[in-house]
Amino acid sequence: MEFTFLGTSAGVPTKQRNVSALVIKHVASKRWCLVDCGEATQHQLLHVPYSLINLDTIFITHVHGDHCYGLPGLIASAAMAGRTQDLNIVAPKGIEEFVRTTITCTDMHLPFALHFIGVETLVNIRVKSGFKVTAIALSHRVPSYAYRFEELVKDKHLDTEKLYRDGVPQGELWGEVLKNTKLLLGDGRELQCEDYILPMREPRSIVVGGDNDMPGLLMDACEHSQVLIHEATYTQEISDRVGRGPRHSSAKDVAEFAEKSALKNLVLTHFSARYHHPDITKSSSITVLHDEAVESYAGNLFLAEDFANFQLDKDGILSYKQKYYDRNKSIE
Ligand SMILES: [Zn+2]
Ligand SMILES: [Zn+2]
Repeated sequence: MEFTFLGTSAGVPTKQRNVSALVIKHVASKRWCLVDCGEATQHQLLHVPYSLINLDTIFITHVHGDHCYGLPGLIASAAMAGRTQDLNIVAPKGIEEFVRTTITCTDMHLPFALHFIGVETLVNIRVKSGFKVTAIALSHRVPSYAYRFEELVKDKHLDTEKLYRDGVPQGELWGEVLKNTKLLLGDGRELQCEDYILPMREPRSIVVGGDNDMPGLLMDACEHSQVLIHEATYTQEISDRVGRGPRHSSAKDVAEFAEKSALKNLVLTHFSARYHHPDITKSSSITVLHDEAVESYAGNLFLAEDFANFQLDKDGILSYKQKYYDRNKSIE
């Protein structure tokens, strides 16, 4: 499983960070899902290897503009790119009206259908890119949701290495191994099929939070998950100063929750524009959020950056792989 951040700023874009959007993808599929679509998400997409033709389903966490203003432009560009396949959008009430009204008001004509699925009543949805996605209600100024992406694993796996090693000819015979208990090979050998079938693997899962001031609401969702991606809009000091009004989490809030729930990997995102300074020695740099989080959380901690790509391996170990684009470097 892998994910790539397209936007990591809260509320407004900065020179380093655009507003919220995240690509989530299974390595076995070329299709991908998008969680949130802040303004200019389609511009960010120009720098990463994901095509709007292969966009599977869009998930919107809540109606605030920094999470959805990019939808009309992205949908229009999907049409311009030649997309003809229907597009599913899982979102809270209000998003459908926003998108459809914009389509009407701007004389947009789409060569594909849009299907809106209300998150409020969603139990779970299986998407073609290989996930079962569940929504979890959060606490914010408006209804907000987290999405838990659980990979779909096949019940039975062939031990292809062993089949090769034992000289079982590849082809139809391999399919028969899954369906039978014994097989007679051309050379007279009798195969015990169960010797060539691997046990079902525990599915991995990633929880992607929307804006939320109560990380504890994700306790059940995180129980068998390997990664939590959650907002940490500011430090505890600033959070205390601004009060409960904005209904966001501090780095400390999320770190304490992650530690309590024994979560292996935590990725913080959705940072206030006040932490914009590129010099990490400054108090207005992102380092203060990192420093606050490590005080409470001993697991694998990452701070998101635009265009950063992460991969979760089969053992549930998360690693930062690459940055697809660096704003400070050349324009290709
Ligand atoms: Zn936000
Ligand atoms: Zn919000």
